[in-house]
Amino acid sequence: MEYQTSLTQGQPDDEAVRLLQYYEALALENDPRGYCVCTSEGKDSRVLGHLFRRAGVKHFYQHSITGIDPPELIYFQRSNFQQYRDAGYLTYDVMYRKSMWQLMLEKKIPPLRTIRYCCAELKEKRSEHQGKAVVSFGVRKYESVKRARSRNELEIALPRQKNLIMPFDDGENRKIFELCYRDREKRVNPLAYWNDADIWNYSRDVKLEQCSLYSEGFDRLGCIGYPLAREQNRRREFSRWPKFYEQYLRTFDRMLERRRQCGDAILDYASTAEIWMEWWLSDHVQETAGAGQLSLYEL
Ligand code: SF4
Repeated sequence: MEYQTSLTQGQPDDEAVRLLQYYEALALENDPRGYCVCTSEGKDSRVLGHLFRRAGVKHFYQHSITGIDPPELIYFQRSNFQQYRDAGYLTYDVMYRKSMWQLMLEKKIPPLRTIRYCCAELKEKRSEHQGKAVVSFGVRKYESVKRARSRNELEIALPRQKNLIMPFDDGENRKIFELCYRDREKRVNPLAYWNDADIWNYSRDVKLEQCSLYSEGFDRLGCIGYPLAREQNRRREFSRWPKFYEQYLRTFDRMLERRRQCGDAILDYASTAEIWMEWWLSDHVQETAGAGQLSLYEL
């Protein structure tokens, strides 16, 4: 398979390919299968995977099954993984250990912008397939203020403290990443400085198929009900996939029941499943539900 683009030297895609090729030896030293490409098969990770194939570096794919992804994205991911396997790549699907519904029942509150407990369980748990591989994500600084601060092209995961994050265009950083922290998880994120236009220009340029939901106007695909998304988008998702709305509502009801059984406070804005769910869907709530308000709950 040939991977070519009409983009010129010095463009972000060339830089990304250079970064991946630069660390291939390190990736192979850590794992003979090469880099572990973590993908949801949304637009960013589709571009990420294409860059890996184009760079010609050894890698395999890992996808986390969250149980709350849009059905169209799930079918798209399955079909792409089949194509990757047909092309000779290893692929792994990692099943969640606890579903979103179990997590909500355990926590007795829904995930909020300030308390996103679900990611750690559904998306970020290290899998046995990963081993010691150098990992790669499609994260981009442009996606949020938090990502702008906390993510970069090179990352070293440090337990119980902030991860070490570094841009690639610095010789000292490159050496630290390669030679130090040998036992820590290392991540190479070549899209860290890409903006939305870069993603779409690249996809168009290399004729990379993207999930059909983007052409329906969805600009971000991922967990249905994702608390960081705007209220309008979440309502749109729930009207597009009403079964998920019903499942969330049932879970709110079960959370209430559990709170009653445990003798926990039932607050006015959570007196019924419907009222609580409306509260949860509100942008205002998601923006203002700070630690003070949440201390009313026992986490
Ligand atoms: S809803 Fe958001 S925070 Fe929760 S698992 Fe999905 S992406 Fe992560």
